[in-house]
Amino acid sequence: MNLVLLGGPGSGKGTQAEKIQNQFGVVHLSTGELFRENVKNHTDLGSLAKSFMDKGNLVPDEVTVAMVRERMKDPEIEAGVLFDGFPRTIAQAKALDDLMSQLDREINLVLNLSVSDEEIVRRLSGRLICKKCELPFHKEFNLFQTCPYEKCEGEHLYQRDDDKPETVRARLRVFQEQTAPLIDYYSSQGKLVTVAGEGGVNEVFESIREVLEES
Ligand code: AMP
Repeated sequence: MNLVLLGGPGSGKGTQAEKIQNQFGVVHLSTGELFRENVKNHTDLGSLAKSFMDKGNLVPDEVTVAMVRERMKDPEIEAGVLFDGFPRTIAQAKALDDLMSQLDREINLVLNLSVSDEEIVRRLSGRLICKKCELPFHKEFNLFQTCPYEKCEGEHLYQRDDDKPETVRARLRVFQEQTAPLIDYYSSQGKLVTVAGEGGVNEVFESIREVLEES
């Protein structure tokens, strides 16, 4: 099973992807995570990516596709892959189709997590990430202010640079202009299923599970 998880920034892609990986045994491939790892490790790719990420813009297609192509060489991917945050442009979607057919595979299903812009701004401007375990939390909805895992202290929670309000607005604009056209692209291939992404984490996952079990 090879899946794409489509959705705006803050639609819950990362959270749901982890749950899908655990339940369905597919490998979670998040281009945002791969870029953030490179930023953290101060690689050349990381410094290039950071200059785009900090403004809420997309990293150029050639760079992103080359990184995904490299990651797809990993044999563990053969079990099935869940793309999270990739593709984000029509050019990337076409490159992914080519890459999959070279590997004699195809994208079976595209899950479109639908969340309103107002909800996205609310979620992202309050999102904090634990530096140690990288789990996301929310200022308003959490019962705790510090990470409950690994005995982290409060200082381990931080706001992602690209979750600042002005960058969130830029990311939403980029999503509407460059990524939303993928909804039609995959819908015309008969692969798109839209899932309401505004409920609680478990509620949204139940809808996803139903879709995946039926497909
Ligand atoms: P994410 O964690 O998926 O929200 O990604 C964070 C940032 O990484 C995005 O705002 C982009 O700057 C960059 N990024 C992630 N995935 C892609 C992609 N497929 N194409 C271009 N840029 C990406």
